[in-house]
Amino acid sequence: MAAAPPSSGPRAGADYPSSLSQFLERFQSDADCAAYLARLRWPDGFSCPACGHGDAWLTKRLLYVCAKCGRQTSVTAGTIFEKTRLPLLTWFRAIWFVTSSKSGVSAKELERELGIGYRAAWLLLQKLRRAMVRAGRDQDKLTGEIEVDESYLGGPVPGGKRGRGAEGKLIVAIAVERLGFGKRSLRWKLGRVRLRVVPDVTGPTLYDFVEHTCERGSVIYTDGFNAYQGLAARGFKHDATAISKGNDPAHVVMPAVHRVASLLKRWLLGTHHGGWAAQHAAAYLDEFVFRFNRRKSGARGLLFYRLLENAVAQQKINYEALILLRQEQRGKRRGAVRQRPYSTSAITNTPKPRRTTVRP
Ligand SMILES: [Zn+2]
Repeated sequence: MAAAPPSSGPRAGADYPSSLSQFLERFQSDADCAAYLARLRWPDGFSCPACGHGDAWLTKRLLYVCAKCGRQTSVTAGTIFEKTRLPLLTWFRAIWFVTSSKSGVSAKELERELGIGYRAAWLLLQKLRRAMVRAGRDQDKLTGEIEVDESYLGGPVPGGKRGRGAEGKLIVAIAVERLGFGKRSLRWKLGRVRLRVVPDVTGPTLYDFVEHTCERGSVIYTDGFNAYQGLAARGFKHDATAISKGNDPAHVVMPAVHRVASLLKRWLLGTHHGGWAAQHAAAYLDEFVFRFNRRKSGARGLLFYRLLENAVAQQKINYEALILLRQEQRGKRRGAVRQRPYSTSAITNTPKPRRTTVRP
C-alpha cells in the first residue's frame, strides 16, 4: 500500500478531490472508499497488528488480509463506519454533500439526494457530527481577546422570566475570539468559536466552560454578570462591562458573541428548519462550530478530508445512547402531545396555549 506524503499538509487533487467531477472519478466503489480510509488510518502504510507485516489484500467485505499470517483487519472497526448497513460509497457521497454545501444539509435533504431512508439519513448525520469534533481539540484553546457570554435557544415560556435564567430554554455558553476591529466593516473580526450546552449560569459552570475553552492569561470580556467575577482569580485577565439598564442593548457590549448567536439561530432555522431536539443540541452545536471555524477555508474538499480524518480517528464511540434516544421518540403514543420544548421553531412559532373547554 502506498504511504501518504510527508506532513506538508494535504494537497488538493492528490489527497482530496477538489471538485465534484474529481470526487465522482475517484470514488466509484466501496473498495475505492475503503482504500482511501486505509490511507488516512495508516498514513505510514498498513502493518498487520498480529505480525507487523506490511503486505495485505482487500477482500470484498472490505477486510485487509495479512499476506503473511492471514489475520483480517477491518478498515472501519472503531470508526463511525463500524457496523453500518449503508455502503461506504453512500457514506462518502453524504460526506461530500455535507462538506461541499456551505451551510450543511438536513436529514430530509439527504434522504432525498441519496435515496436512503429518513432514519438512516438522520443517524448518518448524527454520526458525522461526532466526527466534526477533532480528537484533542480541548488542548487547542482560544487565545488573545475572547468574548464570553450565554445565549438562549428556544421560545419564551408564556409567563416565564426573561433574560438570564429564563426557564424552558436551552442555555448555550459561547466563547469567541476577537481579531481586531475592522476599519472598513466597522465591526470586530471574529476568530474561532467554542460552544457548549450548559445546565445553568452559575459561577462553577461558567468557570469550567472558560477554563476548558480559553487559554489562561487571555483577556476575557464579559458583561457585568456576577457569576463571572471569579475569572481574574483563575488566571484570566477579566474585563467586565456592565450593561446599563435600559438604553444599551446587549449586543453593543458583546458584539462578537451576539453575532455568533444570531448566526447559530439562523442556521438552525435555515438548514434544519428548527427541527432539532434538545437532547441532540450538542451535536448540532458541534456541526456549527466545525463549519464556523473553517468558514474561510477556500477548498471545500479540505473539509471533506478533515472530516474523514476525524472519522477514522474516532475510537470506540458508544452510539447506543444516541440510538436509544431516537427510539424513545419513536415509541411515543399516537395522539400524544409532541414535546419539543427547546426547538428553535419556537422562535418564530410560539406554540398556542391549549384550548380548554369551559363547562357551564
Ligand atoms: Zn500478519
